[in-house]
Amino acid sequence: MTRQRLDLLLIAEKVAEAAMRRAAGLGYRLDGVPASLQPAAEEIVERLAKDLAEVDEKGILRCRVCGKGPFTRKGLYLHLRRVHSDVVVEEARRLLEDAIWRRTVALEAGAGR
Ligand SMILES: [Zn+2]
Repeated sequence: MTRQRLDLLLIAEKVAEAAMRRAAGLGYRLDGVPASLQPAAEEIVERLAKDLAEVDEKGILRCRVCGKGPFTRKGLYLHLRRVHSDVVVEEARRLLEDAIWRRTVALEAGAGR
């Protein structure tokens, strides 16, 4: 594994952790994510968080991936970490690669003008 890919996986793990906390309504930080990737990382956190949790009409918190619940905030966070962590990290990695790719293309297009 190259150094760059390893870094991307580490960043994906941080973004996934932040998304699981966000989904449960807990605070999060994106420490260790390079400044140039912070805006993209925040977008990805929001996007992933929406797919991970839902609040039903009675205000009950459920896992959106498998439908389990009801959960407390902390309970949902622990459930996501224990059961769905691999999927969330993989999705975060895919979205980060996508964001990096789009930025590279945009930079090259700008430089070619
Ligand atoms: Zn679940």
